[in-house]
Amino acid sequence: MALNLKDYVASYPNFPEPGVTFRDISPLLEDGEAYRQATDEIVNYAKGKNVDMIVGPEARGFIVGCPVAYELGIGFAPARKKGKLPGKTVKATYGLEYGQSSLYLHEDAIKPGQRVLVTDDLLATGGTIEATIELVKDLGGIVVGTAFIVELMDLKGRDKIKDYDILSLIKYN
Ligand code: 5GP
Repeated sequence: MALNLKDYVASYPNFPEPGVTFRDISPLLEDGEAYRQATDEIVNYAKGKNVDMIVGPEARGFIVGCPVAYELGIGFAPARKKGKLPGKTVKATYGLEYGQSSLYLHEDAIKPGQRVLVTDDLLATGGTIEATIELVKDLGGIVVGTAFIVELMDLKGRDKIKDYDILSLIKYN
């Protein structure tokens, strides 16, 4: 029987600041069956889209994307924060509540025309995933889908990436 994955998300009111409820996927990752079920659902989604490559932003995008890449026998490219990648990179900047942040991808991580699935643990305002998509497109990749374990619906991140297909396994209002 399939597990209810929502049972494996912990909610922390007033973290990291007052008024925000943080949805923590640690219990899901710590349970082998739940982590596998979540991974299998994303693997099945990716199989339907003929994915060549997976890209995920630092750091929880790696946790979601890497086991999917392993299962499909395809590559994974990490989108990283400033100063982490040693080679030539492309850069995308996105807005945070206070200020800005940037993500980087190695220039040779994606070949033009490759079909890419972008993964992260959680979709909130959509800024992180939008920047990751921009990096892939900069390199000539085709973003064929996005996959998340959790989506916070009221933050309307999906409006920011409305040109792309979205899989989210657990939704909160
Ligand atoms: P966005 O850019 O969509 O506003 O925020 C999503 C990014 O911030 C993701 O990379 C995610 O890891 C992190 N994030 C924002 N809010 C939460 C939260 O409530 N729980 C978790 N696990 N991550 C969050």
